[in-house]
Amino acid sequence: MLNKKTIDDIDVKGKVVLLRCDFNVPMKDGKITDDTRIVAALPTIAKLSGDGGRVMICSHLGKPKGTVNEELTLAPVAQRLSELLGQEVLFLKDDEVVGAHATWFKSNMVEGQVVLLENTRFRPEEEKNEDSFSQELASLCDVYVNDAFGTAHRAHCSTAGVAKYVKESAIGYLIEKEIQFLGNALDDPVRPLAAILGGSKVSSKISVIDRLLEKVDILIIGGGMAYTFIKAKGGKIGKSLVEDDYLEYAVNMEKKAEEKGVKLLLPVDTVIASELSNDVPYETVDIMNIPDDQMGVDIGEKSIKLFEDALKDVKTVIWNGPMGVFEVPHFAEGTKQIAKTLAEMDAITIIGGGDSAAAVNELGYGDKMTLISTGGGASLEFLEGKELPGITAIQDK
Ligand code: AMP
Repeated sequence: MLNKKTIDDIDVKGKVVLLRCDFNVPMKDGKITDDTRIVAALPTIAKLSGDGGRVMICSHLGKPKGTVNEELTLAPVAQRLSELLGQEVLFLKDDEVVGAHATWFKSNMVEGQVVLLENTRFRPEEEKNEDSFSQELASLCDVYVNDAFGTAHRAHCSTAGVAKYVKESAIGYLIEKEIQFLGNALDDPVRPLAAILGGSKVSSKISVIDRLLEKVDILIIGGGMAYTFIKAKGGKIGKSLVEDDYLEYAVNMEKKAEEKGVKLLLPVDTVIASELSNDVPYETVDIMNIPDDQMGVDIGEKSIKLFEDALKDVKTVIWNGPMGVFEVPHFAEGTKQIAKTLAEMDAITIIGGGDSAAAVNELGYGDKMTLISTGGGASLEFLEGKELPGITAIQDK
């Protein structure tokens, strides 16, 4: 179990707390289009502020690549955070992040006050995890708290480097919750345990497939990844997405599943189309026999039924990656039906961030799931069994 200090283990009264959040929210024309990540950070902010901490929050937004980019300022986040928190959150507009404003506030904030620093990625040192910027960040605070699960798999100044230079550090409630659910699901699951993997590439999920086969009772593979497995079994896949370098890997994974007694399920039918567009004709065919000029774009009805039946008595499910090209409405049915099935299950349901989380939220099933991870990449690396530098950097209990 996680042995890191949490915010329940530290006393922040009167102390300046540098809190790293993941406020990397989607924006359009300067407006926040989805504030899920801000909402997810509220319990930690409220706790630190309520306990009399002087809370300085930092985060990155987008990819400014070490230069100041006004389109990626965190100013709109401060405004939204003020509304959600019911307390004014001042935005400290220092382009260098740790500048005159931040330094002044460090000495003059009142207990319970919350302020937000500028985008940490405006600094070229941030993503290189250079000590100079880590030290500047550390100079602002008495305590460092990391609650940015979405960037916990990155070793940057504000997610990991800074921890080396502070006396005290802890993780926030969001990271604690994510790790607890993902960790328990893998190491001490209520069984049967199933994992559903989708998305585009086998290559990006090799380690996770490998590790899940050690842990799960059922592994369901859908999405673009499935066609590599189908080709490896001798199927005709037309112009579907395929990674020919991984055919042997696919065969080996099927063997491994058999050896481990894991039920590995692949789609049996598929929706096909000539291109990824909502304007072309589409139909459902046997997945082993896709015409040469067509590609598989979603799982078919029989596959949906097969997967639903397999999930019937399952008590824990982890889902990562869509079942088809769900961005195109005609090819979104498989992903939608799987989301619906999970929402209706009497089981622990964990959605591993990214596209599957977006699909679940869009369909309005967000509050029907046990956990929707705020970090796609981080949750995948956690499932692979990798260390997350943003968590490793925190002091042990
Ligand atoms: P990933 O980032 O690997 O989780 O992949 C997500 C992407 O996979 C989404 O943008 C989907 O459109 C895409 N995807 C899912 N199924 C297919 C498919 N059958 N063919 C091509 N792309 C797919």
